Amino acid sequence: MTREWSNWSGSLSFTPGRIEAPENDDALADLVRRAVRDGAAVRVVGSGHSSSPLVQTRDVLVTLTNLRHIETPRQDPREVTIGGGITLDQAGKTFLARGLAFANLGDIDKQTVAGAFATGTHGTGATLPPLATHLVGGRLVTGTGDLVEVGSEDDPELVRALRAALGVLGIFASMRLRLVPVFRLRKRQWCSRAEDCLREFDDLARNHRHVDFYWYPRSDEVKIRTMDLADDSPAELPFARLLDEEVGWSNEVIPNNRELRFEEMEYSVPAERGLACFEEVRERVKAHWRQIVGWRVLYRTVAADDTLLSTAYGRPTATISLHQNNTLPFWGFFRDIEPILRACGGRPHWGKLHTLRADDLRPLYPEWERFLAIRRSCDPEGVFLTPYLRDLLGVD
Ligand SMILES: Cc1cc2nc3c(=O)[nH]c(=O)nc-3n(C[C@H](O)[C@H](O)[C@H](O)COP(=O)(O)OP(=O)(O)OC[C@H]3O[C@@H](n4cnc5c(N)ncnc54)[C@H](O)[C@@H]3O)c2cc1C
Repeated sequence: MTREWSNWSGSLSFTPGRIEAPENDDALADLVRRAVRDGAAVRVVGSGHSSSPLVQTRDVLVTLTNLRHIETPRQDPREVTIGGGITLDQAGKTFLARGLAFANLGDIDKQTVAGAFATGTHGTGATLPPLATHLVGGRLVTGTGDLVEVGSEDDPELVRALRAALGVLGIFASMRLRLVPVFRLRKRQWCSRAEDCLREFDDLARNHRHVDFYWYPRSDEVKIRTMDLADDSPAELPFARLLDEEVGWSNEVIPNNRELRFEEMEYSVPAERGLACFEEVRERVKAHWRQIVGWRVLYRTVAADDTLLSTAYGRPTATISLHQNNTLPFWGFFRDIEPILRACGGRPHWGKLHTLRADDLRPLYPEWERFLAIRRSCDPEGVFLTPYLRDLLGVD
């Protein structure tokens, strides 16, 4: 089947040689073997919510819409095995019925679990690492077309690599996750002056399970979102005005529904530099972009993890995200702010827009070479590589 494919925001569109939707794990392995034989590239796509051209190919684009099963392995009641094509919201609903949940979610839950993990997707919360830390194993189709069972019990380093692998180590036919018991959250949204929020933010991040804020350049106000376990007594924010409150299961309360399409650049910076970095961005936006960019700037926190290519690798993290309406020019704005984010030690979100390539990225990731060595062993022929990915990773 050949047709044009485009991503959620519409900024990325291309026509692959064919789009395949294998019926089962064996058919998936078989199509990779055929591609190796034919010298074709294979890219697997999730829900197409990334804007960086990770899935762009002239050859074979694979979608796993037929692999959406959920099973509970018998030995550990917190473990669940899910098909490689299932989305976060589908998984969340089924987990809830079984008394289980993701510890955190991002802004939306329409991505596939595999796609979200592959780019280091995270929510907010100083004690909460990126979502992929739930991954403990799975069934992977490697670059030789072999279907292998992987697990952190046997090969913890491989799983640390697979937790944010951009689809270059293999295709997950299924993933084994270790989850947390279900929990209810109280979400409260507040409005305040930017100065007040920035002054209080370190305390907010310490005192709330989740906190983030959107800064609105035109009004210079912020919308703060706090989320805490529903049974905890809610803390007041004396400097802010409460706008609304909602209590419910975590998978219902954390994600939003985004109808308006936008483009985004996001960098992860060391948490201790986060607010100063945000201040620099704010000054620059006020001086140069306030008239042009009506969209808000988002500030979040993420706990450190040890996933080889995680943007939170080895350091408590703050993330700063710039947005612009997808129908308006965005590159001028993003390119102007990007050097500020880089100068703060920033690592770009793998699934969002940025201009970095291997020479810029290598120094940011202490285990970069380790990841590349694992890539070579998982995909010796480079069947999962494209010109973009070769440049991004520095692979000949
Ligand atoms: C509206 C919106 C809100 C967002 N909110 C957040 C947020 O709160 N936090 C955050 O961190 N990010 C956020 N993102 C970014 C988003 O989570 C990532 O871009 C994510 O990777 C998209 O998942 P997807 O299923 O669409 O995957 P795709 O974009 O289709 O693919 C992403 C990567 O996953 C790989 N992949 C897909 N399936 C598999 C598989 N089965 N096996 C191996 N590799 C696979 C692909 O090859 C590709 O490299 C948001 C994006 C949008 C558009």
